[in-house]
Amino acid sequence: MSHIVIVGGGFAGVWGAVAAARVRGGEDGPRITLVTPDDDLVLRPRLHRLDPDAARVPLKRILAPVGAEHLRAKVTDIDTAGHRITADGREIGYDRLVLAAGSRLVLPDLPGAEHLFDVDTAEGTARLAARLRGLDEFTAVVVGAGFTGLEVATELAARGKVVLVERSDVVGPDLGPGPRPVIEAALAELGVRPLLGTTVAAVDAGGATLADGTRISADVVVWTGGVQASPLTALVPGERDGLGRLAVDRHLRVLGEASGDVFAAGDVAAALAEPGRHVLQCCQHAVPMGKVAGRNAAAGLLGLPPEDFAPDPYATCLDLGAAGAVTTMGWERTVRLTGAAAKERKELVLRMIQPPLDDAAEIFRAASRQGVGIPR
Ligand SMILES: Cc1cc2nc3c(=O)[nH]c(=O)nc-3n(C[C@H](O)[C@H](O)[C@H](O)COP(=O)(O)OP(=O)(O)OC[C@H]3O[C@@H](n4cnc5c(N)ncnc54)[C@H](O)[C@@H]3O)c2cc1C
Repeated sequence: MSHIVIVGGGFAGVWGAVAAARVRGGEDGPRITLVTPDDDLVLRPRLHRLDPDAARVPLKRILAPVGAEHLRAKVTDIDTAGHRITADGREIGYDRLVLAAGSRLVLPDLPGAEHLFDVDTAEGTARLAARLRGLDEFTAVVVGAGFTGLEVATELAARGKVVLVERSDVVGPDLGPGPRPVIEAALAELGVRPLLGTTVAAVDAGGATLADGTRISADVVVWTGGVQASPLTALVPGERDGLGRLAVDRHLRVLGEASGDVFAAGDVAAALAEPGRHVLQCCQHAVPMGKVAGRNAAAGLLGLPPEDFAPDPYATCLDLGAAGAVTTMGWERTVRLTGAAAKERKELVLRMIQPPLDDAAEIFRAASRQGVGIPR
């Protein structure tokens, strides 16, 4: 029996396993194994709400109904020439590999960096939530006013004082000028103090010191600097971009990998979303990439033609805590919804990113379309 191995149990890996199971044609088709060290799919876009349990979905409630296996292990080696991976010391052969090991926050090399908190993983969020639990009043320094930094800062502002430190001269530098006035108004409404054009030079248990020597006393310093693709990408021959992502073709096969049997999806893959635009490291791209890579991995073994990756038009939905949210459309990020209407959309997004559970027909139905199915 041929074997499809999927590395990673995030959005891309889980949807990859489901999409492969959907086309494999019953139990005589290829065996599908998803390898990841966790028992849960972690819905990272829910982590800024500081309730890590609400971000966890048991993998067995998605994989078991569709007949995919879960191996609870960490992959440490990939041998593409030998068609095998090593996971917790065990060698596992594959006919098709889907690399979907995602991304991780890059922590800075600062004095006192061990005192930093983050919301990158369920464990990081749990540690932050535990630190704040029981504090009537607190001050938080959030470092980075990008997408994640803005969502955490505005969430924390409901419960404490927040200082938002950003190296650039504007908030949301990568979000562009479109949504900026909405974001600035939300920060002002919530009393978040932006400190722009500066950065944190050192951290300790009682706060942070800025590059110009200014000291900010704080109960927590939350780091939200950028993420980098999993180091497993370095074990696959091929070109990698500045984020460590592997170049892939329109079927999500890794370019430059000699066998042609390795696919990459989600935050480890730099696919073209449309001419001239690469995907971003976000779930709205990770979900369809997982579906296409998993499907194509199985299709190749079954003699079916591959499908092109063709995601929905790019859109964003930024949570702004008690000040609502803001949604944008297109790469120029033209504002569509603000305030309560945008907040309603954010709640819908946070619900819909959870795959259906237990019911194979529902799970397969959700895998039959590339997108998440969120109205634009
Ligand atoms: C706080 C926060 C808020 C976000 N908000 C949004 C949002 O609003 N909208 C949006 O579109 N995106 C958002 N994102 C980004 C989005 O969550 C990611 O793009 C998405 O999770 C990527 O999915 P993935 O499956 O590629 O990777 P991941 O979610 O990173 O999953 C990777 C999986 O691989 C596993 N893995 C890693 N290494 C190994 C190994 N060596 N062996 C085996 N398994 C391994 C991990 O355990 C995990 O299961 C947010 C991210 C964060 C952190």
